[in-house]
Amino acid sequence: AESVSGLKSKDLVNKAFLSFLISEDKAAQSLLNKLIRSNLVNTTNQVEVLQRDPNSPLYSVKSFEELRLKPPLLQGVYAMGFNRPSKIQENALPMMLAEPPQNLIAQSQSGTGKTAAFVLAMLSHVDPSNKWPQCLCVSPTYELALQTGKVIEQMGKFYPEVKLMYAIRGNKLERGMKLQEQIVIGTPGTVLDWCQKLKFIDPKKIKVFVLDEADVMIATQGHLDQSIRIQRMLPKTCQMLLFSATFEETVWNFAKRIIPDPNIIKLKREEETLDTIKQYYVVCNSKEEKFQALCNIYGAITIAQAMIFCHTRRTAGWLAGELSKEGHQVALLSGEMQVEQRAAVIQRFREGKEKVLVTTNVCARGIDVEQVSVVINFDLPVDKDGNPDNETYLHRIGRTGRFGKRGLAINMVDSKFSMNILNRIQEHFNKKIEKLDTDDLDEIE
Ligand code: ADP
Repeated sequence: AESVSGLKSKDLVNKAFLSFLISEDKAAQSLLNKLIRSNLVNTTNQVEVLQRDPNSPLYSVKSFEELRLKPPLLQGVYAMGFNRPSKIQENALPMMLAEPPQNLIAQSQSGTGKTAAFVLAMLSHVDPSNKWPQCLCVSPTYELALQTGKVIEQMGKFYPEVKLMYAIRGNKLERGMKLQEQIVIGTPGTVLDWCQKLKFIDPKKIKVFVLDEADVMIATQGHLDQSIRIQRMLPKTCQMLLFSATFEETVWNFAKRIIPDPNIIKLKREEETLDTIKQYYVVCNSKEEKFQALCNIYGAITIAQAMIFCHTRRTAGWLAGELSKEGHQVALLSGEMQVEQRAAVIQRFREGKEKVLVTTNVCARGIDVEQVSVVINFDLPVDKDGNPDNETYLHRIGRTGRFGKRGLAINMVDSKFSMNILNRIQEHFNKKIEKLDTDDLDEIE
């Protein structure tokens, strides 16, 4: 009996640890995407809007002037290089700036302008002559809070009367003090402490509450409950805003629980497709042979930039070394790197400083390095049970319909096992993957 219960508790620990890793992973991916993003994500999809009061007119704006922002804020927006509102901002901004304030749940993929939108809303609603917190924004991690803080500072550059405070662990304040900053941004645990236990913030005076990255938030143990406890301390008149990049059932349930009478705005993610991609496979017997095939391919066709995916760090490191020896400028993305380091590597690759990016599957999951012309699966993507990871395959190779250029994908097969994976991927997408003979490469275009 003892061994059984022993096993159980160990299982529980493993489970908790696993969910910790997953949430860390989500937060890290989100941060990585923020660090490498330099402009808006293009989209042709239409915004879906659900208004709480269907009789009130549906406003949308095509310019920032129409919003009648305070002059220093308009100046801030233009100084950031924004010419016109993004798709989601066209609808979200008028709702968030309306009088009386309206609540909002908004979902759109990362890079579509959500952060800029709610930062503008917070800055607009602040009364700088009142020296107490009026806007409260919760983020899943310290790093993500800092990123949003930077946007507040940038956009508020010409509005220096408005001050910002970070409610994050490690930011220790004297007992009994009251915050004078109008905007507070932080992680749920610390924000809750500052409102409840330490009373640095009077939650009854909060006018705008923002819950950012709700999908990442609920993946973290404890954050969901803490967020709800914060929300309960706020006055009924407080404007509540929730943002998420994805909308699984769990996020949706949470959103409805925490945001009363919301307007809802959704912008579907641009679908990825394999239609504009030429897919090939190469049969080899070992990783050395795969490397040789790769060299042959490089010798035969001009490759502007390629991303090469490997299963393990070791293979990735080895391959990067071999390619360097051949005279290629190689960037390597590896799991032991900090998020900031990874972002720097990706940034250099984007700028064309390196022509080849070698990475492990895990490392590149969920990041959007769009529009490399050639993707090489040195190892095919498989999940932890050894089944084909179709989603990863699509995300890696696929292009978003309208904006995607044509692309080339080459899959390297080196065993019965990987041939089987390839066949299953081919079946799944119902798209032919052509065999390539690397001694005779005339057929690739
Ligand atoms: P999200 O929060 O949805 O990930 P962000 O607000 O961070 O998106 O915006 C993504 C990128 O686009 C940022 O670099 C931001 O500065 C920029 N951006 C946001 N809104 C606009 C706009 N209206 N015009 C141009 N660029 C914008």
